[in-house]
Amino acid sequence: MYSDIAIPRQAYNTEEHQMLQAALDEFIKKEVHPNYEEWEKNKMVPRSFWQKMGEQGFLCMDMPEQYGGGGLDFSFSALVLERCRYQGLDFGIAVHSDIVAPYINRYGTEAQKQKFISKMATGEWVGSIGMSEPSAGSDLKALKTTATDMGDHYLVNGSKTFITNGFVCEFCCCAVRTNAGTSNEGISLLLIEKSADGFTTGKPFDKIGAKAQDTCELFFDNVKVPKENLLGEEGMGFKYMMQELPRERLGIGIEAIGSAEGILDKTLQYVTERRAFKKAIAEFQNTQFKLADCAAEIQVYQSFIDHCTILQKDHKLTAVQGSISKLKATEMFSKVVDECLQLHGGYGFIWEYDVARSYAAARVTRIYGGTNEIMKLIISRALFSDFYKKNRAKQQAEKALISN
Ligand SMILES: Cc1cc2nc3c(=O)[nH]c(=O)nc-3n(C[C@H](O)[C@H](O)[C@H](O)COP(=O)(O)OP(=O)(O)OC[C@H]3O[C@@H](n4cnc5c(N)ncnc54)[C@H](O)[C@@H]3O)c2cc1C
Repeated sequence: MYSDIAIPRQAYNTEEHQMLQAALDEFIKKEVHPNYEEWEKNKMVPRSFWQKMGEQGFLCMDMPEQYGGGGLDFSFSALVLERCRYQGLDFGIAVHSDIVAPYINRYGTEAQKQKFISKMATGEWVGSIGMSEPSAGSDLKALKTTATDMGDHYLVNGSKTFITNGFVCEFCCCAVRTNAGTSNEGISLLLIEKSADGFTTGKPFDKIGAKAQDTCELFFDNVKVPKENLLGEEGMGFKYMMQELPRERLGIGIEAIGSAEGILDKTLQYVTERRAFKKAIAEFQNTQFKLADCAAEIQVYQSFIDHCTILQKDHKLTAVQGSISKLKATEMFSKVVDECLQLHGGYGFIWEYDVARSYAAARVTRIYGGTNEIMKLIISRALFSDFYKKNRAKQQAEKALISN
């Protein structure tokens, strides 16, 4: 197995981490594996599963205990993400526990934390995050959904697309445009509850992978949202998103590591069983070298992600580190799963094989959470920031000279 040769993880170095891993692995084998095919057909995991995850304490692990969370640090939440993917479980837990709950915990009022996080921790409520719109994905600032101030409430109009957990969720943490067309115009975050009149969803999309994770459109037609559902300050939404996106991106990197490890272990098993030319496939040097290369790649990125997990645990992860985690771990996962599929021959192309599912799921990891091109943009902006600063200063000095 890959773990036999891997460097022990610094981020998961306590007995509690080992106990969590064992409990989660057992739970997934019992509750997920027998049902997963049906969930894929339904294009979502059932609500009862969210509640079971909550009962076991696997949701919102690093949220404060006073709101029903696990009261643990980020590394426990990270381990849950990684092991779910290692075991082939692909659903919107990261959005729920590692994106939406942290937003509310960081920017929410006491009443919002009591109301939302406590229900999210039990799985009674599922949360989604609504940033992307039909005409605003990478370019978030172009979003068009408006929230008009009506005194004691906002009136929300517009739509969101590609929303993970959109179909099953009880509420969406939505980025909306407030004070549209005025000098105070800005992006704000609103907790919009599904029970509100005028809030509807499309059917879950037919995706090429991650089929048990529901992804759909959300529509807002004159939806009344009480002012107490504004998250943080009006107009600060874009800043809040920039502050929280590094954690989201690290989460995608962590999931990519778990997925790659899982599929490597399954492939190691497969090649010892499958035979050609009177030999196990594992006996061909090509097989051994390919898988050695995969193990080495995983190890290298895993070490970086491990380091970033500790940084996030200490609230020190930067935007660039979050972007590098997502960019490199998802590229590595895509490469590893492609090699593993090849070693499965024709069976690798058949959906009932985990490697086929994993191959399809890998593709979207380079798109969501900000595409990998946007990750490169963030990294290169940091690399060239001095250059642009100097250029701007030079241009300003030249302008001043001309106007004098
Ligand atoms: C399965 C799935 C789940 C998702 N879940 C969520 C969710 O829960 N919540 C949510 O808000 N969103 C979600 N998304 C949306 C996702 O974040 C967006 O798809 C992504 O940010 C890209 O936006 P877009 O699809 O509009 O692509 P576009 O922005 O149209 O980009 C198209 C192409 O142009 C490239 N491009 C764009 N701008 C630049 C640039 N400046 N420089 C270089 N290249 C550029 C992109 O990299 C991409 O290759 C999900 C998407 C999928 C597929």
